[in-house]
Amino acid sequence: MAIKILSETVTSQIAAGEVVERPASVVKELVENALDASAASIDVQVEIAGKKLIAVSDDGVGIPFNEVKLAVARHATSKLQSAEDLGHIRTLGFRGEALASVASVSILTIQSKTADSKVGGSITVKGGQVGKVHEIGMSQGTHVQVQELFYNTPARLKFLKQDLTEKNQIIALVSRYAIEYGNVRFTLKLESKSVFQTFGKNDRREILTQLYGVEIGRQLLEVDLDDGDIQVKGYVSPIALTRSNRKEMVFFVNGRLIQDTALNTAFLQAYHSLLMVGRYPMGFLSIHLQPEDIDVNVHPSKAEIRFKDSNRIFSCVQRAIKRVLLNGGVELPSLHIGWTHFENRTNYQSEPASFSTFKSPPAPDASEKTSSEPLKPILQQTPLANMPLLRTIGQIGLAYIVAEGPDGLYLIDQHAAHERVLYEKITSQTITKSTSQALLEPRVIHLQARTASILTEQLAVLRSMGFEIEEFGENTFRVLSIPNILAGQDEEQLIRSALEQAEEDETPFQDQLNLKLIARICKRAAIKSGKVLSMEEARNLVQDLEKCHSPRTCPHGRPTMIHLSVDLLERQFGRRGAR
Ligand code: ADP
Ligand code: MG
Repeated sequence: MAIKILSETVTSQIAAGEVVERPASVVKELVENALDASAASIDVQVEIAGKKLIAVSDDGVGIPFNEVKLAVARHATSKLQSAEDLGHIRTLGFRGEALASVASVSILTIQSKTADSKVGGSITVKGGQVGKVHEIGMSQGTHVQVQELFYNTPARLKFLKQDLTEKNQIIALVSRYAIEYGNVRFTLKLESKSVFQTFGKNDRREILTQLYGVEIGRQLLEVDLDDGDIQVKGYVSPIALTRSNRKEMVFFVNGRLIQDTALNTAFLQAYHSLLMVGRYPMGFLSIHLQPEDIDVNVHPSKAEIRFKDSNRIFSCVQRAIKRVLLNGGVELPSLHIGWTHFENRTNYQSEPASFSTFKSPPAPDASEKTSSEPLKPILQQTPLANMPLLRTIGQIGLAYIVAEGPDGLYLIDQHAAHERVLYEKITSQTITKSTSQALLEPRVIHLQARTASILTEQLAVLRSMGFEIEEFGENTFRVLSIPNILAGQDEEQLIRSALEQAEEDETPFQDQLNLKLIARICKRAAIKSGKVLSMEEARNLVQDLEKCHSPRTCPHGRPTMIHLSVDLLERQFGRRGAR
């Protein structure tokens, strides 16, 4: 086939493919245009999941009559003049692409009027064919109607998900903008039914409560960090409130809804070791920084950005969240319905109301310490007593230690408790000659090439724990000494478990990976359930746990202990009024 320049129709459909992926992307572009036009009120209406109609009306500044036709032309924008402007974008739009793209795959009508014009202008574009501008009577603002989306690109239509999925995407999108822009009134109608409305009172908690319900709205913790030119504000879940997926971690950066894996990681990391495996926090964070410090021109859909100093942003996000988690208190699950709950640990997640609250001291700010100097302790902590002193009574089920405290009975999971103890000992030790133990005979380990290269990368963190390992020929290593605390363990198994973690892990941050490697090694090394403990061993373990900073969870976030309060016991035995 000969080389030909593609027609305008084809190129605009190709371009539209990047901007208009689904109905929710149309809604996003139209809502962003309304926000850029300083609207105080935005109404969104959707029929048949957006495939039949998407209509967005605003009371913003409007488009001058003689520019209405230009608005739907490709690369036509009022928001950008020169290439330099790209360096400090303050509007949501700037590419001048959205209306033209939407118009090339639908029937688009735009009606708009400015304050100083008597009449508005109306234009319809069908599949890219631009009609004439007509005068119409209307009040100031803009109405955009998108009908029959993808009618001329059947392939795209076929790729759409079920209506329900598309509708949920639209609800999620509009509600997120409604939270971020709390001073704007939003209404969303789906299939002629009102889904929600906000009142422009700039009360984010109220909007979150309306969207997520009273229980969640009440529990969310307010985040507010001002770090000079970076502000992080929003709401995040306390540790008792978790989700089974990461979808409810929402970020706006300079008013723009952003998807960013590194921000997600920073968010998750703030909860590191506080949540159970497979549970995720939720939250809404609004980050503001100088427009010069981000590059928004990364992708046509504008959902990705680049940060000039990403490390600083991530550290601000973590600090902001950690601070409120501490103030909000870390909660310990306690039984208060009956023994059946003891069997089913996962119940704690579904019944946040059954938690009793303990104030916890500041948690170690692990992720902010860097590992560039591996021989320093990773965590420096002054020990703080944040669980009561306990009297060890014995072991039950070869898995739990029973202990008594001033406020009732404690059941301690021996494996989880030992994991926590090892983890804190390792992360807080300063490495000297005496923290490691030389092996009588160096242990030689052969690895596959891929695993060997991972080990080479992770040697520094292993050294910081007290492992002395040297390369010993191709894909072969020699372990010369291991940390005292892990003496007697199978060193090859410990190292292999760390490597597995490194292999599976996706975090882009070495500091965080380091902590996870250590946590994995501790899990491998910790006393297993099923092991008989002597009274002295049980007592030592409880005493070690008392010295920990976060004694109530293992490094993977599971509880180390369950508390049966005196109050509970009295109620259960009918000595006090039953609940
Ligand atoms: P961009 O937003 O990137 O500039 P669009 O194609 O979305 O590109 O819109 C083109 C232009 O149309 C905008 O620059 C703006 O001048 C005008 N416009 C679009 N929607 C509205 C609106 N709701 N209110 C006022 N002007 C609008
Ligand atoms: Mg736009």
